Amino acid sequence: MKPVFSLCVYCGSRPGNLPAFEACAKAVGQWIGQHQGQLVYGGGNSGLMGMVAAATQEAGGRVVGIIPHALAEKELARNDCDEFHMVDTMHQRKHMMAERADAFLALPGGIGTFEEFFEVWTWRQLGYHNKPIGLLNVDGYYDGLLNFMQSTVKQGFVSDWQMGLIHQSSQLETLLPLLIQEAGLSQGQGLDAI
Ligand code: AMP
Repeated sequence: MKPVFSLCVYCGSRPGNLPAFEACAKAVGQWIGQHQGQLVYGGGNSGLMGMVAAATQEAGGRVVGIIPHALAEKELARNDCDEFHMVDTMHQRKHMMAERADAFLALPGGIGTFEEFFEVWTWRQLGYHNKPIGLLNVDGYYDGLLNFMQSTVKQGFVSDWQMGLIHQSSQLETLLPLLIQEAGLSQGQGLDAI
């Protein structure tokens, strides 16, 4: 069956230190699977990345993994994705992930997650795509970043409308339906019905 939506998830290649991070990664995967969705992600089995992918598949969702050759060993390439792509460069990976997504979601993560999140945000404000972007602020992980981002508006380097391109919430039950709705997709219909 064709997935109802395709959500690109950026998150840590490590699990982080709080049980809430692992719980959130699993809950996001379950939500995707329970809503007949597709996960697009970095194709690894390490950290939160592997947890989201496993939970998606366990809940009946489809998983597309995209990983550069050079990282296959380090990030424990998950060959049992429903669709698995080994690409040559990080740029190809990120481009393909963005192409295959209807919406983007960042969970707690490290430098790679930050870079991916900021990249799709800058692409959006430049008009390269029109896909919704969400930041799941699990247990206040992104409080400091969100405060800083607000301060950049006050300092005159970022506009309110640019900030408005990001949806942020601590609740996945709030954030995920919002992203799917903004992408113009119904949780109850196939893409062909839109
Ligand atoms: P991290 O959040 O640092 O644990 O990384 C999460 C994912 O982002 C990993 O799959 C990294 O390979 C990926 N990633 C994407 N772009 C970059 C980048 N420029 N530097 C480091 N990692 C990146």
